[in-house]
This record gives sequence, C-alpha cells and structure tokens, in this order.
Amino acid sequence: MLSLYSALLAQHPRQLTSVRCAGQTIEQLQRYFEDVVLENNLAALVVEAMLPETQRSLRETARVRDVARAARHAFFFVSSDDALNDLHLSSNHGESSDQDERELVLLKQVPQAAFNERFVVIADARFSALLASVRKHEEAGDEGVGDEVIWTFEPDIVYSALEYLMARMTAEQSFQSPAFSKAVSTCMPKTTSLQLTVSVTTKLARFLQEQAVREIAVNRIAASIRSSLDMPSVLQTTVNEVGRALGAEHSALSVAVEHGEPPLTTCYLRDGDEDESRRAELLSDLDAYSARRRGHMKAYVQDGSGKADKQDSRPVATVPVVYRERMMGVLMVCSDDPTRVWQENEILLMRTVADQVAVAVNHARLFQEVRQQALTDGLTGCFNRRSFELQLERDLHLATRMNQPVSLVLLDIDHFKRVNDTYGHDAGDVALRTIADALREELRGVDTAARYGGEEFAVILPQAGLEGALIVAKRLRARIERTELPGVGHITASLGVAAFPQHASTRDLLVTTADRALYQAKRTGRNRVCTPSDLPDESPDGTVESDAAIAVTSDATATFERQEAVSPTG
Ligand code: GH3
Ligand code: MG
Ligand code: MG
Repeated sequence: MLSLYSALLAQHPRQLTSVRCAGQTIEQLQRYFEDVVLENNLAALVVEAMLPETQRSLRETARVRDVARAARHAFFFVSSDDALNDLHLSSNHGESSDQDERELVLLKQVPQAAFNERFVVIADARFSALLASVRKHEEAGDEGVGDEVIWTFEPDIVYSALEYLMARMTAEQSFQSPAFSKAVSTCMPKTTSLQLTVSVTTKLARFLQEQAVREIAVNRIAASIRSSLDMPSVLQTTVNEVGRALGAEHSALSVAVEHGEPPLTTCYLRDGDEDESRRAELLSDLDAYSARRRGHMKAYVQDGSGKADKQDSRPVATVPVVYRERMMGVLMVCSDDPTRVWQENEILLMRTVADQVAVAVNHARLFQEVRQQALTDGLTGCFNRRSFELQLERDLHLATRMNQPVSLVLLDIDHFKRVNDTYGHDAGDVALRTIADALREELRGVDTAARYGGEEFAVILPQAGLEGALIVAKRLRARIERTELPGVGHITASLGVAAFPQHASTRDLLVTTADRALYQAKRTGRNRVCTPSDLPDESPDGTVESDAAIAVTSDATATFERQEAVSPTG
C-alpha cells in the first residue's frame, strides 16, 4: 500500500508541491491544522496518522484527546505498541446523542506504513484541509535528512484522500470501514472557508518566518563556535547566542571536557553579568539539572505554570550535550515569564546548538592535545626546543615592551655518557625525567623549563636580571647535586647564565652567551654556574679563546661580538 502522501502526489501532481522539512517542523504544522478544529470547535471528520512512539508526554496525549472531543469523528492510525493505545476518552463528555460519534477510533497501523508516514485530514462542509508527509531515508547525494510534506485546502484533494483512506481501511481493517464511510458521508468536504484557511496559513507563514530567524541564529552560533578553538570562549558564545535567540532571561551550559574531570560551566544573564547572586543561583540550578538529567538523552521541558510566585516551577528547558553517545553536559535556558511556553522548534534549536557544542568542544580538546604534543618533549614533559624558541621570543618581546630583564640559564648534565654506559640507557632516561621534575619544582609559574638537547636543559626566567638568575641557577645546581637518581645515585650539572639586555640584545645572542658561559663552567671543572663575566678575555680579532670546548663559530656569535663592540651600553 502506498502512503497517503505518495498516493495524492501521484493523483494530483500539478496541484501539489512537496516541501522538505525537519520532522519537528511537520509536527508543528500538524498542530496548526488541528488548531482549526480545536479553536473553532469544528464538528469535522479528523483522520490522523502519527509516527509511532512508545512513550508520549501528557501534553501530547491531552492534545489527541482534545482533538477527538472537538471533532465529530476522529480516527487515528497508531502502531500496536504506541502509547496512544492506552488513551481512553472520558465518557461524560458531550451531548448524549453525540457520545457514540465523538469517540476516538484507533486503527492499527501496518508496520511498514507506521514507520515513515504521518498525516492529518480534516473534512467538513465548511472546511477541508490535509497535510501528509513521509520520512525520507538517507540516500546517497541527499542533502541532509528531512521529511517530505504536502498540504492543501482543496476539497477535491481532501476527498481523494478520504477515498484512499476508505480503500486502505477496507483492505486492512474492514470491520472499521462501515463506521468510516458513515463518518465520511456526514462530513463531506464541500467548500473551504477562506477565514479558516487564512487562520492556518497565517500561522504557517509566521512559523516559517520565525524558523528562518532561528536558522540564521543557529548558523551564526555554529560559525562563531567553529571559528574558536578556545574552550571557554566557545561555551560563552554558545550561552549568549542561545539566550538571545530564544529571548530567554538566562541560559547556562555545563560541559565535562575530560571524563571524570570537573565540568566547565558558563552562563548568560540578559540583564547584565554583574549580578553575582543571580549567577550563583543559575549555576546551582544548572548543577541540579545536570545531576537530575544525567544519562537522559532527551530534552527536558518545563513550561510556565502561569503563576508568578512559583519559584520551582519556573519555565526551564534543558537539552543534553552528547558526543558519540557519551553525555558530556547540559544546555539550559530559563525564563522569568511565568507564561513562557517552550516551542518544539526552540528545543530543536537548543539540540542543534548542543550538538555543535559537543563537536566544537571535542575539536578544541583534540587541538589542545595535538598542540600540547607538538610543544612538549615526550620523555620529560618539559617544553621542547621549538616551544622554547617561541617562548623565549614572547618573553623577550614582553620584556622589551615593559622595559624589564629576562635571563636564560643553560644546563648540561656532567658526564652523562658515563651514566648511560654504566647503568644503561633506560636508567639514563629515568635520570633525565627526575632532573626535569626537580627543575620544575624549583621554578616559578612564569618560568619555562625546556629540554634543549639530549641532556641539556634551558630555563627562561622572565623579569629576572643577572643577580636573580644567578641565585636560581645556583639553587638548581645544588638541587641536582643532592637529588637521588633511582639506580644511578647522584650526578651533577654545569650551568651558564646570561641576561637580557645586560649581555645580549637579541634572542640568538642571549642563547649564544649563555652557551658560552655553560662551556666555561664545563671547562673550569663542571658542577658550577658561570656567567659572561667568568669568560676569558677575547682575542683582538673578535674570536673567543681557542679552546676546543668553546666551539662557538656560528653567524650568531659573530653578530653578537660585532654588536657588543658597538654597544658599550650592554
Ligand atoms: P659533559 O660533562 O662534557 O657534558 O659530558 P657528557 O657525557 O654529558 O657529554 P656528551 O655530549 O659527550 O654526552 C651526552 C650524552 O647524553 C650522550 C648521550 O648518550 C646522552 N643522551 C642524550 N640524549 C639522551 C636521552 O634521551 N636518553 C639517554 N639515556 N641519554 C641521552
Ligand atoms: Mg651535552
Ligand atoms: Mg653533558
């Protein structure tokens, strides 16, 4: 059997045009059609098919009951496991003569039809309308998933629909067909009231317009989320935009980026960010909802009760933030307006945004991980050579701007080859890791410890001049000397210190100078700290003393020496 949608399109190809919509949109359209019956108490024949749901909200079942009561005859196609099967209309409603007629007839939906079809057909002497849709399966080359929908107010087409439904009922559940044909004969679609039609089409137009506005909002949110890899700003943008798009007083978002780690939370307050108590209250609400909705993959919607004084029945809607079936958090909007009712498409907007957030947060996390890997040394967890260069550049830049010193300490472990040769390479690795840990413990948060080479480390000390740097370097030397290395015992290191701008005016010169000081420490006995003032005098041609250990012949050195020569201010 064809779906009603396909049958009508085949029969009236020129009068019907199908439109692709999101399933939620069609649900809303279907409600606008039902509204005509409800708002005008239209004693019409109403035939509907709904997508199967094993659970239905009170809102949904109440609505079906209301439609069935307002209509003269109501027939609903439902699947055998649909929650609507439990619905009973109370019998004390309506005129007693009408009572038999005003009853909801549930028709068993055949499984393959139930799966992807929904419709509403309204037939009456004054008004006739129909909306029919099918769920399209995802096919290659299709642009997104969506449902195809047609609607019309043409009595002829509505009549065709009734004929089709009659045939379908005769074929599938013939015992209902007498009741159905009787209903059709009393509610023949004849004309269509312009006024009633306009009431529906106005709603449709407004709805589609609102939806376009929301779609623009979603696109904007998506674009700004995508353009940032910084987690806090992704979250803040999200709550601001969602709050604004839904005209909500507050919105809040909590996302646990790493499993088991405390979540990142953020919120938006329409009336300004200054109200700290409001913010705290909102975040505690968010916590409560996050705890209550943990593991719930569905949205939670609480409409306003209409009563201003009820604090705990404040209108609120939450949707889960889910990534690869893992619930990462909750996006919440609240309103202070006690009459606020959350629309399906608003919830859809929240869901869409929550999905975007989930992806964006994971991108940001991956990006950070990759960046972290690219900038750190795998063995010691220190910055690597490349990030050392970048950091030194940044610190020097800042120091120049703030007119402050920066010092550099280069450290080379003494006779490390012997450690490897004696205790093995693995013990050597452990020793390197232990030394790196010790360095980090001795340093301030603003300092940078980097693995500069195999068994060489570099330490950047922002805001430290030579004196301060010397103190740190001596402390590091002493710390290494007394550190017990597992399986190895004790080792020592030699250190060279240089300060910007006292000893060098550029990055390369600073490194070279510290390097020379380091080799001076090696040359003069190891396990010590040297500064440029410990360096032997230079020869008149500008090259350093001919010691094999001081192999500094790079261009940078030459530049350094030239600059030193012309810059007596040092
Ligand atoms: P000096 O006091 O003159 O610095 O002597 P040294 O033995 O430390 O100097 P040298 O440069 O001759 O040797 C450095 C050694 O560091 C050579 C190499 O085996 C070792 N090394 C470099 N990188 C690693 C590493 O990642 N793990 C281990 N275990 N050893 C490393
Ligand atoms: Mg070395
Ligand atoms: Mg060494």
